[in-house]
Parts: sequence; structure tokens; C-alpha cells
Amino acid sequence: MYHAISNEQLTEAANEFGTPLYVYHAEKIRQQYSKLTDAFKDHPTRFFYACKALSNINILKYIKSLGALLDCVSIYEVRLGLLAGFAPSDILFTPNCVDFNEILDGVAAGVRINIDNISLLEQFGNKFGNSYPVCIRINPHIVAGGNYKISTGHIDSKFGISIHQMRHIERIVKTTGLHVQGLHMHTGSEIKDIDVFLQGLDVMFGVAAHFSGLDFIDLGSGFKVPYKEDEKETDVVTLGKKVAAAVQEFEKEYNRPIEIWFEPGKFLVSECGSFIVKANVIKQTTATVFVGINSGFNHLIRPMFYDAYHRITNISNPEGPQRIYTVVGNICETDTFAWDRVLNEVREGDFLVFHNAGAYGFEMSSNFNSRLKPAEVMFADNGFRLIRKADVFEDLLKNQIWEK
Ligand SMILES: *Cc1c(COP(=O)(O)O)cnc(C)c1O
Repeated sequence: MYHAISNEQLTEAANEFGTPLYVYHAEKIRQQYSKLTDAFKDHPTRFFYACKALSNINILKYIKSLGALLDCVSIYEVRLGLLAGFAPSDILFTPNCVDFNEILDGVAAGVRINIDNISLLEQFGNKFGNSYPVCIRINPHIVAGGNYKISTGHIDSKFGISIHQMRHIERIVKTTGLHVQGLHMHTGSEIKDIDVFLQGLDVMFGVAAHFSGLDFIDLGSGFKVPYKEDEKETDVVTLGKKVAAAVQEFEKEYNRPIEIWFEPGKFLVSECGSFIVKANVIKQTTATVFVGINSGFNHLIRPMFYDAYHRITNISNPEGPQRIYTVVGNICETDTFAWDRVLNEVREGDFLVFHNAGAYGFEMSSNFNSRLKPAEVMFADNGFRLIRKADVFEDLLKNQIWEK
């Protein structure tokens, strides 16, 4: 049974581990994973967790225990995945603009390779011919996603090989004998409209007709999770039914079973995350009341980077009168988490929680301003476990060379 972590429990965690603090609720990840597997039960479907959303090794191990596979965008994510116990064949390596050597390292590790440009495809074909199967990342030129920075399918995008380059792909495949096992697309993040996936699938069927031995079509990810109070997540149940119907229709023509693959990141780990911070100062100016917190975009950059909205609550004064605040960080640069946010009255020392902070939260953190990265804890079996210590001062000097 899923229960949200209570304000009292979050407060205990803040007191025990200190703030700022990332807390991940394991049961929420399990719930999201089950939603997906249930929704797509009508057709063989595999889910590769896109671990760039949150790559703590304990999260990887937990997600593996649920039965998910892994999608990696760097050779180091591949290595983390192997360490976490994923079999090489359960890892899909989908890098972008990497050196061919990084692809070779992926081959040496035995993982599945997804190639997203003509140049590497040609080098791969010349080297491996039909001896190592590949997946090809196609850019279907569908514009989707919550924000231009997280849209990857548009005409100016650097991702994938354009559908208009089919002839060139075919030339390479024919000349080198390359074994193309799957086709991939990933058009962006935060796609609410399921028709985008269905349109994409349709485009992929068209592309698939150019290959005879495909085992799967990978529709990437981009499932939306609700950040604002009135938002809804992608309707995966309806999508599951429609995808199953469409693929089964296609299989009749194609005369071969086709699995559907997805690479959910945010959908699995966004809502599990709470980021707890402390209100350092309440600062009244002529125009607004600022809450200055003990964190900044060095810990959670999504609001500044993508104009992302994160729900914020005051867990220390949940019944306090509602007032309007501008929530800012302590970084010496414009560092605004939220303008004109209605919060229960915030007093200096109160703990605030940023909700939905599991995905691309800690993962995008930095040491800007020579500040320390926060700790991460996992909430499972009704208890908190530290899964990463906060940085200490010495970490800032690690790798720096002390010249005499
Ligand atoms: C980032 C990424 C994902 C995950 O996207 P979400 O929006 O977090 O679900 C999946 N596949 C690839 C190739 C990605 O780069």
C-alpha cells in the first residue's frame, strides 16, 4: 500500500540528516512502475529506466529489483548499471555525439547499442558488419515536450537520424550488412498528449518497412508527471491500449513479432522525490517578501533552467495563514525558485519541501559558489536510509592540484 511520507516524518529526516536533503520514497517508484507495466500488459513491452534522471546506485538497484531494465546515455552510466547488477543485455546505451571509442567501450561491455548519427552508423557497420546488432535512433520530426530545451524531435534538434535520411541509412545497412534490431525515437519530455506517441509510432512503422529483421520499436519516453496542482500525468492506460492495437495490426503486415520498448525517467522517479530546505531569512523589500533558503540552483536547477514549476509546502507551519512569497536561493546570481507563491506563513528556521524533485534534481546539482552537494536518503519499509552523504569541504579540493 502506498502512503505519502508525512510532514512529521519529513521533519524527522531533516533533523536527523540535516538540510538541504533529497528524500526518495521507494514505494512511489514501485507504484509508478506498476502503472506502466499494467497499462502495457496487452502487448510485450519492456521498460528501460532512463537513469540520467536519478542515478544513485541504490536507486538503480531498487529499480532493478522491480524488474525494470536500464537506459544509459554515457559509458559511466553503463558502468553504474553493471555495478548495480543489470545484465549487459538489459542495458540500452543511447549516447549522443560521442566519440566512436565510447561506442566501442559499450560493445566491449556487451550492452545494446543505439546509434544516433550517420557517421557513427557507418563506422559501426564497417567495423562490425552483422556481428553486433544495433538500434537506430530516428528523428521523426515531431515537435513535442513541455519546453523547447527538452524537445528533441524537432527539425533543428541534434538528436537522431532524420527520417529524410532513410536512403542514406539503407545504403549503409546494405553495404555493411549491419544487423538492425530495433528503431528508436525520443521526442522530448513532458508530453501529455498521447497522440504524439501514436503519431510517432506511425512514423516508426513507416521506417520499419525498410528493415526486415526488427525485434522492437523503442518509443523513448517523455511521459508527463503533474508538477502543478491542476496538471495530469500522461494517460498511460489509454496509450497502452492504443499502442497494443496499433502494433498488433502492424505485426500482421510485417509478419514478425515486434516488442515495444520505453525509457521512462521522470515518470518513475520524479514524484518519489522531496527536496527539504530550510528558510534562512525572511526579507521584506519594497515590492515583495522573499524567503531566502539554504539552497539554490546548485541543488535544484529546474526552475531556473526550464522555468519548471515545483510545488512548495511549509511542513513546519502547515496550518499557518496563507501569504505570498518569492522563494529564492543563496547563490550569488538570480536564483529564484518561485515568484508570488502562496505558502503557509514562513518563519525563519521553517522547513520547506519542494515536491516532485526526484528527477533531474540531485542529478543536475553542482558545486557552484563552492557550496556542498546535499545528502540523499531513501524512504523504504517505513524508515530512512542514507544513500549518499552530503559533500564536505574537502570534496571541493578533490582533484585540485596544490601548486607550490
Ligand atoms: C532523457 C531521456 C529519457 C527519459 O526522459 P524522461 O522525460 O525523463 O522520461 C529517455 N530516453 C532518452 C534517450 C533520454 O535521453
